[in-house]
Amino acid sequence: QYVDFDQNEVIKGNEDPLNVEEEMEKKRMTILEVRESLPVFKFKQQFLETVQENQVLIVVGETGSGKTTQLPQYLDEAGYSKGTEGNKLIIGCTQPRRVAATSVATRVAEEYGCKLGEQVGYTIRFEDKSNENTVIKYLTDGMLLREFLNDPELSKYGALMIDEAHERTLSTEILLSLLKDICQARSDLKLIVASATINATKFSEFFNNAPILNIPGRRFPVEIHYTKNPEANYIQAAITTIFQIHLTQDLPGDILVFLTGQDEIETMEESLNESVAKLGSQIKPLLVCSIYANLPNEAQAKIFEPTPKNSRKVVLATNIAETSITIDGIAYVIDPGYVKQNVFNSSTGMESLVVVPCSRASADQRAGRAGRVGPGKCFRLYTKWSFYNELELNPVPEILRVKLTSVVLLLLSLGINDLINFDFMDPPSSESIIKALELLYSLGALSSLGELTKVGRKMAEFPIDPMFTKALLQSSKYGVFEDILSIMSMLGESGTLYYRPKDKKEQADKAHEKFSEEQGDHLTLLKIWNEWVETGYSNTWCQDHFVQYKTLKRVRHIREQLERLCKKIGIEDETDDNENKPLMIQKAILSGFFPNIARISKMGDSFRRLKQNQAVYIHPSSSLHSLKPPPKVVLYHELVLTSKEFMRNCMIIEEKWIKEFASHFYSGKDLEFLDRRKR
Ligand code: ADP
Ligand code: MG
Repeated sequence: QYVDFDQNEVIKGNEDPLNVEEEMEKKRMTILEVRESLPVFKFKQQFLETVQENQVLIVVGETGSGKTTQLPQYLDEAGYSKGTEGNKLIIGCTQPRRVAATSVATRVAEEYGCKLGEQVGYTIRFEDKSNENTVIKYLTDGMLLREFLNDPELSKYGALMIDEAHERTLSTEILLSLLKDICQARSDLKLIVASATINATKFSEFFNNAPILNIPGRRFPVEIHYTKNPEANYIQAAITTIFQIHLTQDLPGDILVFLTGQDEIETMEESLNESVAKLGSQIKPLLVCSIYANLPNEAQAKIFEPTPKNSRKVVLATNIAETSITIDGIAYVIDPGYVKQNVFNSSTGMESLVVVPCSRASADQRAGRAGRVGPGKCFRLYTKWSFYNELELNPVPEILRVKLTSVVLLLLSLGINDLINFDFMDPPSSESIIKALELLYSLGALSSLGELTKVGRKMAEFPIDPMFTKALLQSSKYGVFEDILSIMSMLGESGTLYYRPKDKKEQADKAHEKFSEEQGDHLTLLKIWNEWVETGYSNTWCQDHFVQYKTLKRVRHIREQLERLCKKIGIEDETDDNENKPLMIQKAILSGFFPNIARISKMGDSFRRLKQNQAVYIHPSSSLHSLKPPPKVVLYHELVLTSKEFMRNCMIIEEKWIKEFASHFYSGKDLEFLDRRKR
């Protein structure tokens, strides 16, 4: 088959397209030469002068111009890492994504000439690679937010750069509000807000008309090609397009494909490698590599390795590569036009992961990635009509679409009680704030007066969903602390657990079936974990059972971190040998996840959430999916919206437990079905 494209538009560049060779030469430049060749370098003086004269500065610059890697180093050189008494201060730089934080820190450590984790380090959830020597620290916006809990004035920091502000993530936005406030108390603190796109005026206005520094990047023209017709299967269309480019375009240059998540990337990687193997020496070598949130550090390095002569690299990426990470050498971009987002509906109280069309601003950012080293081409796997009629102009800020429970809890524990009048850049609806307060109250984090309880304080310190924390807090009471910790760690790792090699599908399915526990997925996950631990974390065991070793290794890491946190916060481990452990485990989970209950519908063909009466279905990956007859009531871990609203990771619940654990959360009407069934 063939994907039919029309060339329709050209995004203009500002650069003479003769620099390709020079750009390729870069590979042979010294680190210092590379640093000085970046567009920000010319603005170094101007940047430092403006910082000196102003407390807050907005920096706008093309992606790849050197903002993230260079500006913190400039600040360090200019002495912002030293306090007035000669004390050491940190230059912090936040990133919305974990991979960006680790990848950039790795690069900057190299430029700085130190070991990663020494003068240059990073902190992300469950991982801290920094020490007392660290002066430049990259960290996720969520982690910096947590630092307010122990140090409300962030006194360790001499300067902070809030990077990728245009992404408008929830944590970044709350940070901006809180920082605006502490800037008054700490006149010595310097704040840089960096953003990739042009909506900088909004940030400037928010910070009382702070100055804006514009850094024009190098940009070559990019031809935009749209498909003539809508493509039904964008994965297939993307694969076809990769080969079309590889076979028909003589220009050197690598290909970047934007996909929505790890699963999609892994599937595509497999099928690409298969096709490449089949074609063998008929085509020039095509190297496939990928980048997504959970990719281990070692594997990340692969995308930055120079492509060998005469071959082409294909990078499969999530929208991480849109602005957070720059991969040199990309000349072709393939954009299916989708993004995976967490979406919360405050009227139904449902949050789910959804693949949605990306915005036009995102699509243009993606296209721009093709024009960094020379003229490029972008292949959009949708029509021009759809671009102008079906894509939103800008992405919706996260604060307007996600669940606010964790943030509300955090703000309350910082002593910010008047949330309705809090200085948000874009205030969320009062409805969603109230929903969050209600949930926190029902979890026992708030008293009936709306004050934070002891439980609430512990929850705020835990970097996971309060429902999780609640289950964990309750687990020692039931004597199943260790088990809940294991289950939570398994659920907290989003990588794929099972694999099914094409030639051994049946064998794999059989092996997976053996893990399945009658109560559902939570206990199934526990069984896998426990068996793996018993083998002494064996890789061979994983291969024999068609389980991803690397995923379990990450679960182990998460579990260690969670355990350490529990100790620090004082969550006791009173695990003892229990008569009926599975039952106790179920109850502990229910004590936190009671808002996530659904019952079978009257017709028996779907489930209904208790409060909203909206149809939901058991995810095909669940061991309860084809259970006959279906369970009457299930608890689910999360909702995923694809063709239907699916419940992923489900557990059977006994009807009589609902009143015991959840009657304070549901109304009499929500629970009417319990009595109806009895009759
Ligand atoms: P910006 O923040 O303005 O988008 P960056 O500072 O991230 O720009 O990137 C500047 C340069 O550093 C780019 O050429 C990019 O390729 C390079 N770079 C960033 N991270 C790495 C890395 N981990 N390995 C190699 N090069 C990197
Ligand atoms: Mg950057």
